[in-house]
Amino acid sequence: MSPEAPPHGKLLIFTAPSGAGKTTIVRHLLDRFPQLAFSVSATTRPPRVGEVDGRDYHFLTPAEFARRVAAGEFVEYEEVYPGRFYGTLHSEVHRSWAADKCVVFDIEVKGATTIKRHYPQDSLAVFVAPPDEETLFQRLRDRSTEDADSLRVRIARAGEELAYRERFDRILVNDDLPRALREAEGLADSFLR
Ligand code: ADP
Ligand code: 5GP
Repeated sequence: MSPEAPPHGKLLIFTAPSGAGKTTIVRHLLDRFPQLAFSVSATTRPPRVGEVDGRDYHFLTPAEFARRVAAGEFVEYEEVYPGRFYGTLHSEVHRSWAADKCVVFDIEVKGATTIKRHYPQDSLAVFVAPPDEETLFQRLRDRSTEDADSLRVRIARAGEELAYRERFDRILVNDDLPRALREAEGLADSFLR
């Protein structure tokens, strides 16, 4: 077996529109379950304050991202917002599996669908649903990470993304956070057994 292609492990996917709470839930699970390893995506968007290259994302120039697409380095990639690319690297998935870990994803709905299609048996795809659209938008605004333009495109895209909710294995409603975190722990626990 070549080092580039270790045997398949498991994949735990969290997907949702921006602001629904994926990152909050995924970080909580990474703290609780040492068997999980985060798939660090590549992106062409600039880092936010506090984000670290190689930990939160691999921050790439558009040219470097395009070079890696041409080299076949991505499991999937999407132009999530105009001019902003995000993608999952094969190397991230293989690194986790080689370490005997289950790889966990924080990813938008189209990429999640692609990964689920590639690994239908070994993956669990969880859609994180906000209680309602207005709460989602309010959380995005309160997070204060986006400028006005970025906020607008995220809100514009959210309706389309919410329509994907029935396509995944589970829907996790993120209303009361402690309750949602407990439910996420339960899902992870049974999937990892
Ligand atoms: P995503 O990764 O899906 O974009 P985040 O995890 O960044 O979403 O959450 C968006 C914002 O909403 C963050 O500021 C986060 O602290 C907050 N948040 C997440 N879950 C809840 C919740 N259940 N109730 C209130 N605020 C929440
Ligand atoms: P953000 O800019 O808020 O970090 O991410 C924007 C959106 O891109 C989020 O919905 C996030 O989950 C998604 N995303 C992050 N990484 C990837 C990836 O590797 N592939 C895809 N398709 N989407 C991603």
